[in-house]
Amino acid sequence: MLIGGQWVSAEADATFASSNPATGAVLGYAPAAGAAETTRAVDAAHHAFAGWSRRPAAERGRILTAVADLLLERRDLLAELITAEEGKPLRDARNEIAASADLLRWYAEEGRRAYGRWIPDPLGDRRLFTVRRPVGVTAAITPWNVPASMIARKAAPALAAGCTVVVKPAEQTPLTGLAVARVFHDAGVPAGVFNLVTGPPAPIGRALLGDPRVRKLSFTGSTEVGRHLMREAAQQITRVSLELGGNAPFLVFADADLDAAVESLISAKFRNCGQACISANRVLVQRSIAGDLTERLADVAGRLRVGDGFDEATQVGPLVDDAALRRVEQVVDAAVADGARVVAGGRRLSGPEHAAGNFFAPTVLTGVRPGMSVVDEEIFGPVAPVLVFDSEDEAVSAANATPYGLAAYLYTRDLGRALRVAERLDVGLVGINDQRISAAEAPFGGVKLSGIGREGGSEGLDEHLETTVIAVGLAG
Ligand code: ADP
Repeated sequence: MLIGGQWVSAEADATFASSNPATGAVLGYAPAAGAAETTRAVDAAHHAFAGWSRRPAAERGRILTAVADLLLERRDLLAELITAEEGKPLRDARNEIAASADLLRWYAEEGRRAYGRWIPDPLGDRRLFTVRRPVGVTAAITPWNVPASMIARKAAPALAAGCTVVVKPAEQTPLTGLAVARVFHDAGVPAGVFNLVTGPPAPIGRALLGDPRVRKLSFTGSTEVGRHLMREAAQQITRVSLELGGNAPFLVFADADLDAAVESLISAKFRNCGQACISANRVLVQRSIAGDLTERLADVAGRLRVGDGFDEATQVGPLVDDAALRRVEQVVDAAVADGARVVAGGRRLSGPEHAAGNFFAPTVLTGVRPGMSVVDEEIFGPVAPVLVFDSEDEAVSAANATPYGLAAYLYTRDLGRALRVAERLDVGLVGINDQRISAAEAPFGGVKLSGIGREGGSEGLDEHLETTVIAVGLAG
């Protein structure tokens, strides 16, 4: 692990294994840290904070740019690690590294724009203004589904703002986390500014949030764990940004370009095997085109190549682990037992090339309804339940009938309708005739149970800044 610029083991050399979800093979071992190592990482981040936060933002930016350059230099190696550990096709893993570098580059510049404000004084004999200051040590707890870019997404704004970080990657992808940490270290990020500890989550999380020196938590993961961490953060009134689960509706109106809608839906649903918080979860289709759209969707889904991400032809990789596979299987089985009809896939893949991995066939279900887990819960797998609506109002009500509110997608050629519907959806991100809703420049995050705070854009920098008002009396 990387603590205070040193590569260290956990106490008693404890380790845990990381394995390949496509083959079941053990890839390697990572240190299993606990509270003691975590506190050492916070010590290091705390000590480094004074120096790092006082550097000019432009100088921090130059170092972040060097990190971006080195990420791209090591792109192939890092991508292979992501594919081996998480399962996504190699091409997507390479894109993840490019996106990580882009985040670092963008925040390297944005850190220079932490502007304060001059405030007209109501009394007249003072001058009032604000300065923005980095909040302090930031804890970043990241998930496995985009194991490199999640670290970049959290570390880039934190470091740009002048904060120091302690990262804890997910237990499914510790090796990717360690390799990303090595990039930060080798690119010249000073000792203690970027630290990374691996190990079982609960003791590490407790040590981070029980420590008064940790002033900010940036978390991406499940709503359940987010709620737990928010409670733990209450101890020290630690600021939180939580990017949690979703249940994204994908709305297709009768006037939509169906080819474009299907192509986009395939990406939004099956990319990363459906394992993204912004994955399309429910497909909502207007009645007159429901049969046509379902048929096309099932046809394309049924032809997607499922396999090892290292195989060039693979379009959909495995689920991340056995528990994830079993959950998808259960959700589909329960829906079918309750009357749903399988129009594509519907089962795990167990032929010779799939036997050792966690592979599930891209699945399309009809005859589903609210009340079924496959509709009400985040699936996080390659399953598309199709529901039918008649009117625009009905579509909006159905889309919003979830406690989540991260992303939504809608396809229509009617501009007025597109804007009317987009403005009524209770989500943080809407894709109109496009499923690419994320960019370093744009704030990303949700409402309701999908979280609090934003990553990306100037909002992502704000999350790491405090505001101090300075009042200057003119009389003295
Ligand atoms: P998922 O269900 O997608 O795996 P989780 O919310 O379980 O999402 O995990 C997201 C991140 O939160 C991972 O890094 C995981 O190790 C971490 N995590 C899980 N439980 C805790 C906890 N009690 N304290 C701190 N971190 C946790």
